Amino acid sequence: MSLFSNIDFLPKTASQTIHRLKKIGILTYWDLLNYYPFRIQFYPKPQLISKVVVQVNNENLFTNEFKLSNQITIRGEITKILNVSTKNGRHVQKATLKDESGQMNLIWFNQYYLLSLIKPGSLIQISGKLDQIRGTRSVLVESYELLNNLSDVGIHTGGLIPVYSEKNGLSSRLIREKIYHLLKAYIDEIYDYLPQEIINKYQLIDLRHAISNIHTPIDEHNFELAKHRLAFDEIFILQLKSKIQREQRKRLKVKTQMVETNEIIDKLNQFEEELPFKLTHDQKIAVGELVLDLKKNEPMNRLLQGEVGSGKTVVALIAAYFSYLNGKKTLILAPTEILCQQHFTTLTKLLKNKLKILTLTGSNKTKSGDIKDADIIIGTTALIFKKKYPNVGLIVIDEQHKFGVVQRAKLKNIAQHPHLLTMTATPIPRTVLLTLYGQLDVSRIKELPQERIKTKSFLVPYDKREKAYEWIRKKITTEHIQVFIVCPLIDQSDVETMKDIKAVSREFETLKTQVFPKFRLSLLHGKMKSAEKKRVMTEFTQGTIDILVSTPVVEVGIDIPNAAIIIIESSDRYGLAQLHQLRGRVGRGSIQSYCLLFSENRNPTTQNRLKVFTSTVNGFELAEYDLKNRGAGEIFGTKQHGIPHLKIADFSDFDLVEKTQEAADYVMSRPSLIKSPEITKMLNNLSTDLYSQD
Ligand code: ADP
Ligand code: MG
Repeated sequence: MSLFSNIDFLPKTASQTIHRLKKIGILTYWDLLNYYPFRIQFYPKPQLISKVVVQVNNENLFTNEFKLSNQITIRGEITKILNVSTKNGRHVQKATLKDESGQMNLIWFNQYYLLSLIKPGSLIQISGKLDQIRGTRSVLVESYELLNNLSDVGIHTGGLIPVYSEKNGLSSRLIREKIYHLLKAYIDEIYDYLPQEIINKYQLIDLRHAISNIHTPIDEHNFELAKHRLAFDEIFILQLKSKIQREQRKRLKVKTQMVETNEIIDKLNQFEEELPFKLTHDQKIAVGELVLDLKKNEPMNRLLQGEVGSGKTVVALIAAYFSYLNGKKTLILAPTEILCQQHFTTLTKLLKNKLKILTLTGSNKTKSGDIKDADIIIGTTALIFKKKYPNVGLIVIDEQHKFGVVQRAKLKNIAQHPHLLTMTATPIPRTVLLTLYGQLDVSRIKELPQERIKTKSFLVPYDKREKAYEWIRKKITTEHIQVFIVCPLIDQSDVETMKDIKAVSREFETLKTQVFPKFRLSLLHGKMKSAEKKRVMTEFTQGTIDILVSTPVVEVGIDIPNAAIIIIESSDRYGLAQLHQLRGRVGRGSIQSYCLLFSENRNPTTQNRLKVFTSTVNGFELAEYDLKNRGAGEIFGTKQHGIPHLKIADFSDFDLVEKTQEAADYVMSRPSLIKSPEITKMLNNLSTDLYSQD
C-alpha cells in the first residue's frame, strides 16, 4: 500500500463507505488526504474534573472562544449511563463520568444508540459545554470518543478538531477518523513537487507539513499556513495546466494561412464604411487583434468579452468577412435557435447580400449543396455537430459559457485546427480569467455604443407590485414600448424542466387574464416548437406583442431595441452577473429603459445584494461583488459546465492568483521543470477538465 493506493484498500472500512467516497470523487488515499476540512473546531485540552470551573482555562490558546462558550474536555470512566424519556417524547441520555479528581454529569439528546456503545466501565473522552441544569453542573456533550487507554490522544475531542462537509451520507466524524489514520501511516510518503525556489520565493510551507496541518493542526497559525500552501497549489496547478494546453495548441498549424492583401484591406475598409454605424474604439481594437490572429499559421484561440449590447456580433462578422475574402467559410454557433435566427437577420442586414448565409435550425431542411455554397453557416450545436463542413477557416462560438466541455471537444471533428473565436458577455473577473482561461487570448469591449442611455434599475418593494404593474400599463399605452417578464427556472439549472414550463405557463395565464388583460401577451420557452418560437420572436420584433413572458433560458443575446422594460421575477435566485445579462435585454435602443426586480426573499443580505445590482450598470463590478460574497459559481450560473469547484483557494484572492501566475510562468520557462516527474504527477492528479478545444 502506498499514498496513491486505490481507495478500495482503505483498512477497516465498510464497502458502503468506500462506495460513497468514490461517488464524491475520492478514488485514492491521496484524494482522501486532499479532502480538506471547511473549518476547525477548537476544544480545550483535557483537564481534571476538580479543576473544571465556569472560568477561563489559561492554558487554552483560544481563550476568548472558551470564555464565551464554556467548553471543556474531560476524560475518565463511565460509572452510569441511562436513557430518560422526557414529557415531550424526546430522549435524553444521562451518564456519569469519573476521573481521579471527581465526577461529572454528561448529557446527550436523542442519541439512544449510545447506550449500546458506552457502558459502565467504558473509558471515554468528551468535549462539550459546561452548564448548570437544575442546580447541578452538567456537560452537554458535543463530541465524544471511546479510549483504550486513558493516555490515548483524542481524534474527535480535546484540541483542534477538523470539521468536514458531510456529503453523500459520509459523516464528518467518519471522514476525520479515516484521514487521521491515513495521515499517520503515510505522512512520510508525501514529498513536495513544487520546485524549491518557488517554495522559498513565496515563503510556502512544505507539502507534508501542509497536509498534516490542514487536518491535524498544531495551532491556528500553522492551520493558516497550511491553507495558504494548499490554496497556492490549487490555483497554480490549474494555471500551469492551462498554460501547457496553450503551448500545445500553439504548435498546431492551420490548414491554409490567411493573408491580408491590399485588395483585402480595401474591401475591409469599405465594409466598415458601409456599416450603419461607426465602430467604437474598442470594437476597432478587437477587429485588429482578430485579423492579426487570423493571419498567423497557428490556430487562434481568442475570447471576445464585452458587455451585453457592446456590439460583439459585428466584430465577429468582420472576422468572418476576412475569412471569406480568403476563401474560407465561417461557422457561427449559438446556444438557442432564437439567437441563430437573430444572427441571421442581423448579418443579412449588415452584409447586404455580399455573402451567402445559411441557418441550420431544426425547422429548415438543408441540402449539402447549400452547405457547400454558404459562406457563413449559423446553427445551434446540436445541428452543427451532425454534419461535415468543407473548408472552414473560422468557428465563432457565441455566449460560449452556455456550451459544455464535451460539445467544445467535438469542434475538432468539424475542421482541422480552425481559428476559434469565443464570445461572452459574462464579466469574468481577472482572477478567474487568469486561472481558468489562461489558454485563451482575450479581447475586451468595454464601452457601449455612444447613443445608449443607461438602464434604470429598481428593487420593487413587495407591497408595490400592483403599483409597478399600473406604471407599466401606462408606459405601454402612452409610449408604445415593449416589456419582458422573466420567470425563473424552479431548480435553478441551465435547462428547462416540465415543471418550469408549467410554472411559466401558469404565470403567463395569470398575467394575461388578470394583470394585463388589455394588452397583447405571448409566452416563450425553450420547449416550444421552433416554428412557434420563430413566430413569437418575429411578432415581438415587429411590435405586435406588448409583453413577452419567458423563462431565462431563451433570452440570451436577444436584441429588441423597442423593449424598454424588463421585469425579473424571483431575482434573488440569480447571480448578479446573470441578472446583468438579463438586464442587457433592454437599453438597446435610444429610449430610456428600466429593469424591475421582484423578490419575495426579505433576507437583508439578499436585499442588499439586489440593491448593489440596482446601483451600478458595470458588469465587472457586479461580478467582483458576487465573487467576493458568493463565489465563482454565481458568475456563470449555478450549474455551470467546466468551472471547477475550488476546494480551498478563492478566486477573490487577487494577490494569490498573481503570485501563482508568476510561479507558473517560471515553471513554463524551464522545460526541465515542466517535464520533471514531480510536476507531471501533480498535473495527472488534477482531474478537472479545463476549457480546451483540443
Ligand atoms: P452583443 O455584444 O450583446 O452581442 P450585439 O452585437 O447584439 O451586442 O449588438 C447590439 C446592438 O448594437 C445591435 O443592434 C448592433 O447593430 C448595434 N451596434 C453594434 N455596434 C455598434 C456601434 N458601434 N454603434 C452603434 N450601434 C452598434
Ligand atoms: Mg450577442
